[in-house]
Amino acid sequence: MSDQIDKSAPVLVTGASGYIAQQVILLLLQKGYKVRGTVRSLDKAPALKALLAAQDPRANEIEMFAADLMSDAGWDEAVAGCTYVHHIASPIPPELPKDPNDLIVPARDGALRALRASKAAGVKRVILTSSVAAIAYGYDDQPEILSEADWSNPDNLKDNTAYTRSKTIAEKAAWEYLSGPGQGMEMATVNPSAVLGPVLSGDFSASVGILTQLMGGKLPATPSVGFQIVDVRDVAATHVAAMETPGAAGHRFIAASDYYWFADIAKLLREEFPAQRKKIPTRKLPSFLLRFLSIFNPVMKQVVPELDKKRVVTNTKAQEMLGVTFRPGREAILAGAKSLIDHNVV
Ligand code: NAP
Repeated sequence: MSDQIDKSAPVLVTGASGYIAQQVILLLLQKGYKVRGTVRSLDKAPALKALLAAQDPRANEIEMFAADLMSDAGWDEAVAGCTYVHHIASPIPPELPKDPNDLIVPARDGALRALRASKAAGVKRVILTSSVAAIAYGYDDQPEILSEADWSNPDNLKDNTAYTRSKTIAEKAAWEYLSGPGQGMEMATVNPSAVLGPVLSGDFSASVGILTQLMGGKLPATPSVGFQIVDVRDVAATHVAAMETPGAAGHRFIAASDYYWFADIAKLLREEFPAQRKKIPTRKLPSFLLRFLSIFNPVMKQVVPELDKKRVVTNTKAQEMLGVTFRPGREAILAGAKSLIDHNVV
């Protein structure tokens, strides 16, 4: 598959500082690709390159470009000469903003900026990081198992947050662009569930907050919330396979593994990390109490649409079409927790 790809052209990864993007970059380097990255400000580039180079010295060769999702500046230069673009940058904050547009506008307009610049530069394929948030939210009558054929309804405000809406709206806008002005260019999306797995530093994605909350002594009790977990290294593998597999164009790919309730993650962490045991909650937080507390607490507000709700997606398509194998959720949880301990975060 990858043998057919000309590896002399650089592959662009947007949002190179991010948790998922870092693993996509490392996998591309390992496979012999030349990598370019975008960051909001080039001030971040030296530290980021040093962080990645500690894992793989080839990271010293990465070309860095400045591009913000909210501005046209820099995108044309970043994509020039690239055949493949992984558009991964999108805001994923630990707490919800007051104005949903603070997330929706950069997610949607940033995706369109990356796509327009790619189309103008003659890019062959863009691989966009969407989310299970664009598949599993806003149903009146939710299917028991959701697949890539399903779309979230972002207008159902009871069963969405600004973040989940931003991911659906951005992915929809991207496919609409592809079937309109972007015709002729290819796109595939990767739709991960909650991403865990090793962090490279103490600066990481909001999803790792699942572990820092549980291990950092910040949660007195576990909320009745659960997610399918996926290892960040498998999300990267799905991204790269969606780039290398000719038939992946035009498809969405769910990246997800086992389902875990918070209480079960807490139990696993207590068993595997006895030194942290005292900080990890054993009690369960009643959902009515969390709903009440969320009135005052923006972090808790993010969790309300998840309370007592199980959303299950299938990863069969990525396994069958892309040949990706997903690690068990347990492995992603334990690798993430160990890396947080190693970086003295918890
Ligand atoms: P992350 O570590 O927070 O990475 C987000 C990246 O987006 C960072 O590089 C960030 O740059 C960049 N970004 C945010 N706003 C930007 C802006 N205005 N202009 C330019 N860049 C901007 O989170 P992640 O988990 O790796 O997320 C990456 C992608 O995966 C996102 O599209 C997210 O929605 C998606 N996703 C994540 C999960 C998950 O559980 N983590 C699940 C499903 C989908 P800075 O470093 O400058 O802030």
